[in-house]
Amino acid sequence: MPSAAIIGGGITGLVTAYDLHNAGWQVTVYEASSRWGGKIWTSPVGERLVDAGPDTFLARVPQGKQLCKDLGLDDELVSPVAPVPAYFHYNGGLAPLPSETILGVPTSMEALASSGAVSAAAVDRAAQDLTLPATDLYDADGVELSVGAYCRARLGDEVTDRLIDPIIGGINASDIDRLSLKSGAPQLWAAANRGPSLIRGLLELKESVGATLGSAGADEPVFLSLPGGMARIVDALVDELGDADLRLNSAITDLGQIQADQLVLAVPSLVAGPLVAPVSPGAAELLGQIEYASVAQVTFEIPRSAVEHELDASGILFPRVDGKVITASTWFSTKWAHYQSADHLLIRLTSGRFGDTRALDFDDASLTTHLIDELRSVVDIKGEPSSVRVHRWIDALPQYTPGHGGRVTGIVEALAADAPTIHAVGASYRGIGIPACIHDGRSLAQELIAQ
Ligand SMILES: Cc1cc2nc3c(=O)[nH]c(=O)nc-3n(C[C@H](O)[C@H](O)[C@H](O)COP(=O)(O)OP(=O)(O)OC[C@H]3O[C@@H](n4cnc5c(N)ncnc54)[C@H](O)[C@@H]3O)c2cc1C
Repeated sequence: MPSAAIIGGGITGLVTAYDLHNAGWQVTVYEASSRWGGKIWTSPVGERLVDAGPDTFLARVPQGKQLCKDLGLDDELVSPVAPVPAYFHYNGGLAPLPSETILGVPTSMEALASSGAVSAAAVDRAAQDLTLPATDLYDADGVELSVGAYCRARLGDEVTDRLIDPIIGGINASDIDRLSLKSGAPQLWAAANRGPSLIRGLLELKESVGATLGSAGADEPVFLSLPGGMARIVDALVDELGDADLRLNSAITDLGQIQADQLVLAVPSLVAGPLVAPVSPGAAELLGQIEYASVAQVTFEIPRSAVEHELDASGILFPRVDGKVITASTWFSTKWAHYQSADHLLIRLTSGRFGDTRALDFDDASLTTHLIDELRSVVDIKGEPSSVRVHRWIDALPQYTPGHGGRVTGIVEALAADAPTIHAVGASYRGIGIPACIHDGRSLAQELIAQ
């Protein structure tokens, strides 16, 4: 019977183990921490179980939904119920996400103007995208542009900073001026390649890009979630792996300690680098070049009576240019029907992104006060929270800086040459979202089974 050792018990490692186990392989999973799931973690806030990591995944990338189907969870998937997708902080107040926006890119200048999310001059500048000549997608060194560099050239700084950065930068906890257009925003890359106009390219691709955050009025759900938390996917995978060798509290520091036909590194690249260094210094060097961002979150319940006007949206995004520590507030009790309650609102505040570590300097109590005060600047909150959870995700979000795709190809080639039974999968490489991680793990499993 072929055997595999999987290092890392996040979604990528568990799904790889699940497929290999189902194909009759002997599987051992080593997880450093005392729980399964990695970045997927659901824990109590007051009496409710609330996600501290992802609370949703994209519906249009089929692998998330498919895995839920395989695990018998698909009937329970739900989509957001908030009437408005999101608001943006603007001029000390709130402006709704313009309708007909795709990944933060406004495709209707009328909708952009009427949203009040940017100045009149910014609307005029964004409209120039329709007539400007093509933008070269590579710099002088042949490296693809960043999302920021490209979008600034097409649509101007204000739309880029106020709409695109909070959405695309927010998803990745990135600085969009250091986020690869090709690897960090592949849909924009595809549209850009149709060029010259980004707006026209996106409209042409709309069928495949589909609705995304704020494509208000979309027929198909954009996001999916599970009542009870995303950790239910992890629990179901662990259940299915019942008779496999699953080891918690088992940090691997030396691959020499492991005997298996195939070795799957489903850990962040910053862990994988030192592990492969003895056998593939070339891969280790490239793995070490992938940088990370940290985020800190404050999730709280607050009596409904403490908030004068309950938000009618999934949340509020705070553009980096406004200088606040808070990057987003997610109104769980508006976004998801299963969190609605007569007594309490449930809100998660997020801070921290690549190049902005101010949140990490606060202790838990002062971070809570600071982020709630920043929220108070736009929402009338009178009382204090009744239950609070503070969680810090240190070096949690890999950054796909320009050249990322080339680095990943280099890692794959170096491992294939130096250590062909060692494989690196997960959020650090080919997509950070849950569906992308599932796809990465399952693709590797199928490849190994086919061998
Ligand atoms: C705050 C936050 C919010 C997010 N929101 C969303 C969202 O809404 N939607 C979405 O699709 N995605 C979201 N993501 C991204 C997504 O959750 C992650 O990219 C994905 O879960 C990563 O899975 P993974 O298995 O590749 O890595 P991880 O979850 O990082 O798993 C790696 C595992 O390896 C273990 N490990 C580390 N070192 C060792 C070692 N030496 N030996 C053994 N084990 C080790 C770790 O403990 C961990 O359990 C979010 C991420 C974060 C941090």
